[in-house]
Amino acid sequence: MMPGAVTTGRGKKPARARRWRIDRARGLLRGARQVASPNCDARPAAVAASLIVIHGISLPPGRFGGPWIERLFTNALPPDVHPFFREIADLRVSAHLVIRRGGRVVQYVPFQRRAWHAGVSSYRGRSRCNDFSIGIELEGTDRRAYTDAQYRALTRVVGLLVRAYPALSTERIVGHSDIAPGRKTDPGPAFDWPRLRAALARRLRAP
Ligand SMILES: [Zn+2]
Repeated sequence: MMPGAVTTGRGKKPARARRWRIDRARGLLRGARQVASPNCDARPAAVAASLIVIHGISLPPGRFGGPWIERLFTNALPPDVHPFFREIADLRVSAHLVIRRGGRVVQYVPFQRRAWHAGVSSYRGRSRCNDFSIGIELEGTDRRAYTDAQYRALTRVVGLLVRAYPALSTERIVGHSDIAPGRKTDPGPAFDWPRLRAALARRLRAP
């Protein structure tokens, strides 16, 4: 809603209007749920985030809605719940943000910190993408369409980030598979890059 707009309470409004904003001093997305992951550290000195990396994740693979992504990012994944969990329970990983299927956003790492999402990776000849990127996980799989709510949330969040952090740009958004080819496939062919780019262009044209 525009500042100063009048609302009567009878107009169409989203069921839960999300009032997100970036708190640059703390590196937080205000309005998102905050869960601290220990799997992060300082970025190298004088390195700012200049790349956004989009991922897809589901735990167990192909299943949505459980607590397991959060458990993984907080080093509390129970290895006995699923055979796959035994393989990954000792990983120390995180992302700055996770966007759930319904569009809810959870922040695990402040933006000025280095989250551990990219692994061995390279962008335009520069390796160690964790050093200079913000990682956003979409709950999903390579092959199943991501949800409308996820595209809406992702567009809003990326729009806020690009406006808050000058080194970020809509030209510098990649998939995990782009920076770790042969090793990673997410967010996969299900992710609609033209849709994201068109939505971002519309959003960032708006005042
Ligand atoms: Zn990934």
